Amino acid sequence: MDSSGPDRIAHFARHEIGPYLAAHPEDRYPRALVQRLAELGAFGVTVPPEHGGSGWSRSEVACIGYELGRGWQPLAGLVGTHLKLCRQVLEHGTPRQQQRWLAPMARGETVFARAYHEQGLSHPAELGTRATRRGPVGVLHGRKSWVTNARDADRVLAIARSGDATVGVFVDPARPGVTVGPELPRPGMLGVSLAEITFEGYEFDPEEEVLGGWGHDLTEPLLAHDVTSYVARAAGSADAVLDQAVRFVREGLDRRTPEVRGAIRLRVGELATRVAVLRTVWQALLTPSPDAPMPSDAAKVFCTTALQDVVREAALLCGGAGYAAPDGTLGRHYRDALALLIIGAPNDALLSRIGERELSVARDGRQVY
Ligand SMILES: Cc1cc2nc3c(=O)[nH]c(=O)nc-3n(C[C@H](O)[C@H](O)[C@H](O)COP(=O)(O)OP(=O)(O)OC[C@H]3O[C@@H](n4cnc5c(N)ncnc54)[C@H](O)[C@@H]3O)c2cc1C
Repeated sequence: MDSSGPDRIAHFARHEIGPYLAAHPEDRYPRALVQRLAELGAFGVTVPPEHGGSGWSRSEVACIGYELGRGWQPLAGLVGTHLKLCRQVLEHGTPRQQQRWLAPMARGETVFARAYHEQGLSHPAELGTRATRRGPVGVLHGRKSWVTNARDADRVLAIARSGDATVGVFVDPARPGVTVGPELPRPGMLGVSLAEITFEGYEFDPEEEVLGGWGHDLTEPLLAHDVTSYVARAAGSADAVLDQAVRFVREGLDRRTPEVRGAIRLRVGELATRVAVLRTVWQALLTPSPDAPMPSDAAKVFCTTALQDVVREAALLCGGAGYAAPDGTLGRHYRDALALLIIGAPNDALLSRIGERELSVARDGRQVY
């Protein structure tokens, strides 16, 4: 029987990424894996069929984040960003832009990166990057601090301020006025590049190359930003390290004394319990209940924080093989997990937002301030 799209992605993540990483340096761009993902249709799942994609449901799309989070976080980041941008082109693009971009994006022929963040930014109105008009020509100036896939993306959507609006400019990185900085040193999230991008007088067509047309304001959609994909990635990583630790411990358990076996069983029980709760939060986010909806910001804070303990405890259970083993899986999950506390939105910023929401609404639903 033919397997479904989500099953094919799961099979890829569980059977192809590990062997690839065993044979290639972790810090090289995984062109072969990106190509495979394109063949599997992963780049088009948020694009409807009439534009050449497969139009998956929200929970099926989230499963891509889960599976790639199980396999390798940088790939999850590359695909997740691209899928977000497909959605933005669909929601905000002019009919001509949808016609121009969605089909090649869905096929994975045109992979997009997003250049939005500038260090310390907390609201789009604070952006220093400016899109201005010089007669019929648009001009972009500014610097973006961290851009995933900066070096290998075919196009970059640069988010800039234009008057009182926040606009998205389709940038071709091969044209003059774009400089991708050196690779940023970091403990994890290797393989897919992470670098600054500077725009110095980059010229663009202000009608055709601004998402939604000149002046189309993205401020509200940017503020409404959903962090479900980061929860998915944390849940995938937690399940992967639990599986790895259980496999490792099971193999050596018979050689242990009964006392040590008992102690190890208890630690495995603790680890499995943490992961079960984390997985439950993730599933509550996927299938929201009208009585007790799980907000994605609270789920992101909980799951990415719990993941830090999960990867550390899984590594501890495996002893030396958790710290240094030929396949390096636990070490990789450990290093990549740290970034999940920060990306999307830093957990502290989300906690402030959650606190503000709680304080402003009384238990009976009245607005308090
Ligand atoms: C691996 C990686 C990939 C990335 N990829 C991209 C990308 O593709 N495109 C892109 O545009 N950006 C990208 N980024 C940038 C990322 O979105 C930002 O790093 C992130 O939003 C945090 O912003 P910041 O680093 O400026 O931290 P800041 O906003 O300066 O926050 C630093 C710390 O200050 C405190 N803080 C800040 N705000 C609050 C608050 N409201 N309440 C309480 N405490 C607060 C928190 O402790 C927080 O952790 C990436 C970053 C990383 C690390």
